Amino acid sequence: MGRTAETDPPETAVEHVDVLVVGAGISGIDAAYHLTTRRPGTSFVVLDAQESFGGTWLTHRYPGIRSDSDLYTFGYGFKPWTGPPIASAEEIRSYLGEVIEENDLGRHIRYGHRIDSASWLSADNQWRIQATRTDTGEHVGFTANFLWMCQGYYRHSEGYTPDWPGLDRFAGPVVHPQTWPEDLDLEGKQVVVIGSGATAATLVPAIAERCGHVTVLQRSPTYFYAGPNMNELADMLRLLDLPEEWVHEIVRRKILLDSHALIGLSLEEPQLVKDELIKMVADMLPEGYDVETHFTPTYDPWRQRVAFVPDGDLFAGISAGQATMVTDHIEAFDEDGIVLRSGSRIDADVVITATGFDLSVLGDIDFTIDGEPLDLAQTVSYRGLMFTGVPNMAWIFGYFRASWTLRADITCEFVCRLLDHMDDLAVHRVTPHLRPEDADMELGDWIAEENFNPGYLKRSMHLMPKRGDKHEWQHSQDYWAEKVLFPEADLDDGCLAYE
Ligand SMILES: Cc1cc2nc3c(=O)[nH]c(=O)nc-3n(C[C@H](O)[C@H](O)[C@H](O)COP(=O)(O)OP(=O)(O)OC[C@H]3O[C@@H](n4cnc5c(N)ncnc54)[C@H](O)[C@@H]3O)c2cc1C
Repeated sequence: MGRTAETDPPETAVEHVDVLVVGAGISGIDAAYHLTTRRPGTSFVVLDAQESFGGTWLTHRYPGIRSDSDLYTFGYGFKPWTGPPIASAEEIRSYLGEVIEENDLGRHIRYGHRIDSASWLSADNQWRIQATRTDTGEHVGFTANFLWMCQGYYRHSEGYTPDWPGLDRFAGPVVHPQTWPEDLDLEGKQVVVIGSGATAATLVPAIAERCGHVTVLQRSPTYFYAGPNMNELADMLRLLDLPEEWVHEIVRRKILLDSHALIGLSLEEPQLVKDELIKMVADMLPEGYDVETHFTPTYDPWRQRVAFVPDGDLFAGISAGQATMVTDHIEAFDEDGIVLRSGSRIDADVVITATGFDLSVLGDIDFTIDGEPLDLAQTVSYRGLMFTGVPNMAWIFGYFRASWTLRADITCEFVCRLLDHMDDLAVHRVTPHLRPEDADMELGDWIAEENFNPGYLKRSMHLMPKRGDKHEWQHSQDYWAEKVLFPEADLDDGCLAYE
């Protein structure tokens, strides 16, 4: 039954802020930190639909949940990381909690506020934001001069599960890691994990011992690399009793140097890197293991994120016979398991679908610009952080290959510099627009498929903004270029119109 005006909770008074930040994950906390330290006079709120901070690291509660990149670069530039490089969700949340506490950010954050709509009104040079309190259902209104989208890239409420034939016939539980039930009983069970990305690699070692057996069913193999969960340089620097700020900065620079070289080599000599990665995996598996079928991807390294497996725990589980890899396609589900295209079958008590995310463009918020619905796919991305025709709005969208936070940090610096510039010019509106010399520019997909191509991006590329053929109009995946380009970017080069 539809709600009526009588049953609708009353809207409270509209509150005004200079900046409204959407999301209290890694990016939103980064934005709040930068607003506090770089622009102490700016009033702002951070709204998040969830009951606490952390975003991804709060949503995902499956066993073993951990980062797949190191926290020296996945952590912020401004806050030293002192734990092991690969961190659990709990360790990441505790680090984020310290950032909030140390910088008194908590007073700006409102949890349990789901933003439903954002409307830009040129007459007022303001955004009107409508949110719903998830505890009371109350509608809450805000106006903001600037909207800072830190909503992440996927829908938090549920993960992506393909529509396999017969799935509803399967008698046991079907669980997506993103919505992991606390009471899921895996003791002695035959478990099939579908997918072989970072999530499966994390989950399988964490559950293998208590299950009867785990089968990892993948359509195609993934790249992994493995090593101990420690950083020798960090340990050495700590022996020298250096301040943690130094350790963080030195180790961060070393990791960045090494990963730049590795990514460069992957692009220039993909076969060499491919051979090395596959050999590393083969060395951790029993002799004669069919590495060709199960661990030799068809794509070149770094076209999708390469997951780090700390201490090779996934391969230890396979070697011990607790987990088996199957590379095949799903034909259909039946009551007792999965029938494969090859004709064989896997019996299962429980199926776990580690099949990825549903990309969510702009946090599922209804956007309008002066009453017209915003179609983001019709815009061109300005440096991968603003959009043509969309005034006073920026988003944080991190890197896929390098740590997300590296781009969040440089985006925060850029946005604060832009807000300073608007103050200097005494203007109230900034809107990216194509310059006359950009008018005939060829527009393409937001990220070229040959550059980076995980499934969730390919499925949703048609919803994303367009990319031009000049760096100003591209969402680059190149931290090493952008860390120079962003601070140097001329804010008066004509790409941004001020009013
Ligand atoms: C399991 C997993 C592991 C990962 N590991 C790594 C890694 O090791 N390294 C790496 O670089 N990246 C990793 N990523 C990518 C990761 O998502 C990002 O690095 C980072 O955590 C994103 O932070 P964020 O704050 O931008 O977005 P999110 O963490 O997605 O947080 C966005 C927040 O915005 C809120 N929000 C969204 N829409 C609305 C709305 N309409 N109203 C109110 N609130 C809203 C959400 O509730 C959420 O709390 C991983 C992702 C997953 C899922």
